[in-house]
Amino acid sequence: METRKVDLHSHTNLSDGFYSTEELIYKAKDVGIEILSITDHDSVNAIEEATSIGREVGIEIIPGVEISSDLRGIEVHILGYFIDINNKELEHYLMFFREERKIRASRIVDKLNQLGLEITLEDVMKIAKNSAVGRPHIAQALLANELVGSYQEAFNKYIKNGGPAYEKKVHLSPQSAFKIISDAGGLSFIAHPGNMSQNLIKELIDAGADGIEVIHPSHSKDLIRFYRGIVNEYFLLESGGSDFHGGKRNDEDNFGKHYTSQIVVEAMRSRLMRNSA
Ligand code: AMP
Ligand code: ZN
Ligand code: FE
Ligand code: FE
Repeated sequence: METRKVDLHSHTNLSDGFYSTEELIYKAKDVGIEILSITDHDSVNAIEEATSIGREVGIEIIPGVEISSDLRGIEVHILGYFIDINNKELEHYLMFFREERKIRASRIVDKLNQLGLEITLEDVMKIAKNSAVGRPHIAQALLANELVGSYQEAFNKYIKNGGPAYEKKVHLSPQSAFKIISDAGGLSFIAHPGNMSQNLIKELIDAGADGIEVIHPSHSKDLIRFYRGIVNEYFLLESGGSDFHGGKRNDEDNFGKHYTSQIVVEAMRSRLMRNSA
């Protein structure tokens, strides 16, 4: 049986990844990935370029996106695959989420200022440029301004969930995220459920998730087996990847090491065909 290295979770610098679309694809090539999904937060802006570079270097690109949702205060990331990147509603929502991210970044900066740290939204946007701005950019700006000793310290001291400068993103229910994705012709997956309770996962399945991200660097072998069991029990799809971002995260080793198989992608395609029949 032919097995190809398939990574269905990665980020470029159009969200909070370190590498440009082109750099990411060349890196994927280096580590032997043959099918890659770019799943930027709240953006599909990398996909068109990725598809054409992928064609040149022999890597198949699956259009993807990662949307943050909120279930009773718990942040739940949803991955969308095979979305039509030209879908107007999708484009509209993603643009709105990116705008909201900017507003939230300024709220975080305000909190940091109140804590006595000298940082401006401009410092953050200099790093984020026109990408979907997130806490990783703020952490980098804090580091650049020498207000923390490391990227991780920025999270630990200030911006981790519940930290003194933490601010939530816009409230979007998982159901709404599923609808945005399915209306754009895609399939929805519960991203890295590693720290979710079983009840929460069941609730998300009942709410309409098409699948679960089974393979992720944060999942132990036992967890992978456990999620695969749930996928089979509920007739869901599975997905998997490295969630590679690069840069200050020190996750270079994950790329090419945490991957899934072509069978998983074929199962997604058949589900989509069946849905549209
Ligand atoms: P945001 O989308 O702006 O909420 O940023 C979320 C990103 O920040 C995620 O992709 C995480 O990898 C990263 N992150 C969140 N919490 C932490 C933490 N405690 N330490 C390091 N990185 C974190
Ligand atoms: Zn990210
Ligand atoms: Fe995520
Ligand atoms: Fe991710």
